[in-house]
Amino acid sequence: MSESTVLENAHGIASPARDEGPRAFIKSFGCQMNVYDAERMGDLAAEAGYREASRVEDADLIVLNTCHIRERASEKIYSELGKLRQLKEERGRAGRRTMLVVAGCVAQAEGAEILRRQPAVDIVVGPQSYHRLPELLSEARIRPGVVDTEFPAEDKFSRLPASPLDTIRRRGVAAFVTVQEGCDKFCSFCVVPYTRGAEASRPVAAVLEEIARLAGAGVREVTLLGQNVNAYHGLDGDGQAIGLAGLIHAASLTRGISRVRYTTSHPSDMSDDLIEAHRGIPALAPYLHLPIQSGSDAVLKSMNRRHRAADYLDIVARVRAARPDIALSSDFIVGYPGETDADFDRTLALVRAVGCASAYAFKYSPRPGTPAADMARQVDAGTKERRLAELQGLIEEQRQAFNRATVGRRLEVLFEKPGKREGQVVGRSPYMQAVFADGPKSLIGALRQVEILAAEPHSLRGRIVSPAS
Ligand code: SAM
Ligand code: SF4
Repeated sequence: MSESTVLENAHGIASPARDEGPRAFIKSFGCQMNVYDAERMGDLAAEAGYREASRVEDADLIVLNTCHIRERASEKIYSELGKLRQLKEERGRAGRRTMLVVAGCVAQAEGAEILRRQPAVDIVVGPQSYHRLPELLSEARIRPGVVDTEFPAEDKFSRLPASPLDTIRRRGVAAFVTVQEGCDKFCSFCVVPYTRGAEASRPVAAVLEEIARLAGAGVREVTLLGQNVNAYHGLDGDGQAIGLAGLIHAASLTRGISRVRYTTSHPSDMSDDLIEAHRGIPALAPYLHLPIQSGSDAVLKSMNRRHRAADYLDIVARVRAARPDIALSSDFIVGYPGETDADFDRTLALVRAVGCASAYAFKYSPRPGTPAADMARQVDAGTKERRLAELQGLIEEQRQAFNRATVGRRLEVLFEKPGKREGQVVGRSPYMQAVFADGPKSLIGALRQVEILAAEPHSLRGRIVSPAS
């Protein structure tokens, strides 16, 4: 899954008309699923009477929604908490109380240890229990240091308030919807099965209801999210399990929805009907993020990935046969225990064989409690660094080549926000590329055909050539 760090309070907590009352600042680290969770925590905070603080200094409630996937992501939280402790003390001296919350996967993995390392924290809440945030806040106001890392029996999603319509509008025309959580795959390097728990799918009706509400507030594109989204098997009204292809089809029929995406997928769950969906559902964007991790079968076996490099190439060929213009993206880990130069060369060869429109490469990071952390033949830091640089160089070459190949083509762009300068708007192509074009702000939320004029290092520049579609 692609990584992003939301540095500003971008979770669109509803703002009442009057400029008073408590404020909340939510900072999210890690994957898109954390962005979604942070938005839902924003809805809960709004319901509890908080409005959005644009600066952390102004916040009476600070939530860090954390990521535990690699060591650096986790350690960053403790340095953030050190700074927030000082802020909390300064605000305290000025007579203002600050509630400090650690949510997300570090909260789940470390629980009370967080309170020991940073006693200024008031609440530690895991990703499966954040719907209890309002109750936890009441409890922590009386007795700070509350920990809730349960996997409660109640359904978190049914307990979350619906996002207010004006909040959805402020969040933009492309939205995330979590449809599946947790993972049963237990790849040897990964903490997700421990922090997010067992695989579970939301019922079809609940997902469609949420999408319809988003569309009613102007959302045109939804990305269906899950740690293993293509393992989705939510129940329909008759109690029948529906797969991801069926869910995408139903989502694409929602009035107002023009584009559907999904992420992140596991190669073993790339079913025939999901591949066919890429041929048969026009609203399904021609972009597939399908992590493989390594091009070496020996490494894949040791990773417990349950597929070989050839299986992956076969899936890619079948997806391309269904949708020839599909753009591919993947995740790779370099320096996994026991990875030799020859194994790494197989990863480079696989990347060359696939041709990625984009991809993410990470240095293997040992995670406590996962089998790979205790394996012999850990790879030294210098080798990891060298392999990472080489792989990233190749990925970047392919990304640039993919972007250059779109110059001269007409792409359908969904405009999302104003551009860098006046009179300019920016949106996304079907292949996830940022596209800048001259046009009024009224185009935000509109899909237009855009002739691509130039490929710049991180975006495309184009000219709008069609009226509304
Ligand atoms: N479910 C997806 C899959 O099957 O590949 C991946 C989800 S994971 C949250 C996102 C990415 O983080 C993985 O694809 C992997 O490349 C990377 N990752 C996970 N654990 C890691 C570790 N211990 N060290 C380095 N990268 C890791
Ligand atoms: Fe982690 Fe593997 Fe599950 Fe992906 S499939 S979330 S990498 S355990």
